[in-house]
Amino acid sequence: MKSEYDYFLSDKLNEECGVFGVYNVEDAAQLTYYGLHALQHRGQEGAGIAASDGEKIVREKGKGLVAEVFNIEKLEHLSGRTAMGHVRYSTTGESSIENVQPILIRSHTGDFTIAHNGNIVNAKELKMQLEAMGSIFYTTSDSEIIGHLIQRESGEFHEKIMKALPRLEGAFSFIIMTIDTMFVIRDKNGLRPLSMGKLEDGYVFSSESSAFEIIGATFMRSIQPAEVITIKKDSVISDQYTEHIQDKMCAMEYIYFSRPDTTINSLNVHTSRRKCGQILAKESPAEADIVIGVPDSSLSAAMGYSDYSGIPYEIGFVKSRYVGRTFIKPTQKQRERGVKMKLSAMPDVVRGKKIVLVDDSIVRGTTSKHIIKLLKDAGALEVHTRIASPALISPCFYGVDISDYNQLISTKYQADELAKFIKSESLAFLSQNGMHEGLGKNICMACFTGKYPTSIFSLLENIDK
Ligand code: SF4
Repeated sequence: MKSEYDYFLSDKLNEECGVFGVYNVEDAAQLTYYGLHALQHRGQEGAGIAASDGEKIVREKGKGLVAEVFNIEKLEHLSGRTAMGHVRYSTTGESSIENVQPILIRSHTGDFTIAHNGNIVNAKELKMQLEAMGSIFYTTSDSEIIGHLIQRESGEFHEKIMKALPRLEGAFSFIIMTIDTMFVIRDKNGLRPLSMGKLEDGYVFSSESSAFEIIGATFMRSIQPAEVITIKKDSVISDQYTEHIQDKMCAMEYIYFSRPDTTINSLNVHTSRRKCGQILAKESPAEADIVIGVPDSSLSAAMGYSDYSGIPYEIGFVKSRYVGRTFIKPTQKQRERGVKMKLSAMPDVVRGKKIVLVDDSIVRGTTSKHIIKLLKDAGALEVHTRIASPALISPCFYGVDISDYNQLISTKYQADELAKFIKSESLAFLSQNGMHEGLGKNICMACFTGKYPTSIFSLLENIDK
């Protein structure tokens, strides 16, 4: 059972997963290792890399951070010019080693590996059908379903994939690798990001374009909704697995998950956050001496708030980079000390000041309450909280761990009541129109509106209201 402190630690949303692939470049597994490092913020529970040398596929995986899972011996074991990797945060399935990806499917027609970011919303129905037909699942992750669907189809491997994909509903960015071919796929709603880059004579693929810079690759473009890229030797073919397409990129990728140096669908994440901060200042002004952001994801929005309001931007917090992930301490006092090790207010900056505190979102409200207490303990006179996204009121079924209504404090409190709960002098959220103005119309906003871009099958029956 989770303690109050566990809930505090998990008050921020957790990222889904990250995928990375390299085709036809020397030391592909090492490059994938660096790529996964750049995607580490998307999942810290487990990591894996599979590599092909043209004759066989070898896979290494483990629980923990990328740097904990891999060492020189393991990377040397992963030889070849083609590799793919995955960092995992479990939004479905347990956090056991079996569920750490890439999934390796051994088949008499040829081995293949799968890395998946997203959630399949008709997973339960598909799994029941597949099991009734004799499929045996080795993991509890929904990502294995695509492997079974592919195996049950007839034809060449590419044809099997094209037949299997229309049966999946929900969010998926897949990299699938056989001994000599890489398939890179994005769902028809474009819910999760996936980008393509160029490196030397080969290609690279990543959940976030920011990972290209680290390995010296050049960003080419985003993979389009429903696009299937097939790379084999020098041939790069782009297909579409369905014509029923809508562009509904997850708004949370811009608001919170992705690195500021990532570009999704031609919109840079830092720029989009800054713009949302400007709109927030226009919609919900406050009288204050300084604007500060909660590190790291809210700093761009705080700059935007400062741009529009003219209130000086300041650094109000220092975040420790070196605190472990699971430093659960037994007593309340030790817990509070542990939390302070993660984030501390800067007394010389905030003392005697009226502050606009910009944050990206509020889930349970416990983090906001604590952060405001840090500021007031450090001498802040007033704290006016401004949230650079609308209130979260609905669960996500597409790979983000907002799993039930009870988790979301905005389903219980209006903004003024929530301000009292977190002990802030005032509180305002960015409006839904403001979010569209900042991020464009082609975004999923289901967790802010309750209007889902896909059917959600039996999933609503299973969540707490
Ligand atoms: S429901 Fe929210 S978190 Fe989930 S995909 Fe849509 S915008 Fe992203």
